[in-house]
Amino acid sequence: MYRIVLLPGDGIGPEIMAVAEEVLTTIGAKFHLTFECQTALVGGAAIDATGQPLPPKTLELCQQSDAVLLAAVGGEKWDSLPSHLRPEQALLGLRSGLNLFANVRPAKILPQLIDASTLKREVVEGVDIMVIRELTGGIYFGQPKGIFTDSHGVRRGVNTMAYLEQEIDRIARVGFETARKRRSRLCSVDKSNVLEVSQLWRERVTTIGQDYPDVTLSHMYVDNCAMQLVRNPKQFDVILTGNLFGDILSDEAAMLTGSIGMLPSASLGEPGKPGVFEPVHGSAPDIAGQDLANPIAQVLSVAMMLRYGLNQPQAATTIESAVSRVLDQGLRTGDIMSPGCERVGCRAMGEAIVAALHQS
Ligand code: NAD
Repeated sequence: MYRIVLLPGDGIGPEIMAVAEEVLTTIGAKFHLTFECQTALVGGAAIDATGQPLPPKTLELCQQSDAVLLAAVGGEKWDSLPSHLRPEQALLGLRSGLNLFANVRPAKILPQLIDASTLKREVVEGVDIMVIRELTGGIYFGQPKGIFTDSHGVRRGVNTMAYLEQEIDRIARVGFETARKRRSRLCSVDKSNVLEVSQLWRERVTTIGQDYPDVTLSHMYVDNCAMQLVRNPKQFDVILTGNLFGDILSDEAAMLTGSIGMLPSASLGEPGKPGVFEPVHGSAPDIAGQDLANPIAQVLSVAMMLRYGLNQPQAATTIESAVSRVLDQGLRTGDIMSPGCERVGCRAMGEAIVAALHQS
């Protein structure tokens, strides 16, 4: 039995979560897995009900769970609140409350959607990259930070990029383990020609790599990596990098695929502890409540939860294949619509995926 916390949140969140719940029930019945799901408040919905974006009760539930499935948070209604009370704070609260230090984002081109990419077919066809970003260290957290005024009244903005050896080691292990489950190639990205913190990063990743002789390790400077991702993205299997570089490169890699409505992600902590699985996109307030949202990123987040959170890779693959078959049938939500395909809403897309699961 797996205890799953569902956090629908705001905007299109509840619509796409409803689809994910159906998918979870169906896959559970198919693979004889029992999911005990509990829905909890997060983001703007939680602010409205309790005054806090991440109520302590929600965090506690998540900490006691086996995995957390999140949709999205945020919206204009809460934009004028002070920053510590805004919906997005819930994401930071979950990261620190669950010690989620690794963000794992696939950028995989589905053959049916190649034309949605802004890059040429021959460049993106077959792209299948996993970006692993360190999430709780680096420049977003290093001290000192702030805007300081010196004795002459001159202001200085400061952030500090710092990594402890242990922080590099544990994310490196996630990188090598992930590469092992894929094509066994790991590219570690840094800026060691300029930054000392990157020199330590490179040294530690190389050392940890000695425990994984079956994985081919390479190193690349971040500026080159940004260029190679659009020049020849097929050269990459797993990309491992720090918080700041990963923030930028994971968005760049994601956009190779063309549609933000298709991309899942996972944030993982120590092995055996609950991770958070969620779409890359936000709450899409512009289309909320109109049955226009693409639920596929949320459904693929369920697949990631099964593979990386609950160690049920077969169930994960079954969901991914069902999504692929539905796309083969020519069904598309508005965001991925192309000529000759049939336009459907969020609910109908969900029903088609569930029907494909029943048939698999
Ligand atoms: P967004 O991802 O919500 O939307 C960007 C564009 O993509 C919009 O046009 C939207 O309609 C479209 N889109 C996104 N997901 C879609 C889907 N599943 N199907 C079809 N179209 C989709 O980003 P934004 O507009 O910058 O932010 C909106 C709100 O979401 C903000 O409050 C922001 O802070 C929040 N946000 C939350 C998260 C999160 O919860 N993890 C991430 C990013 C943004």
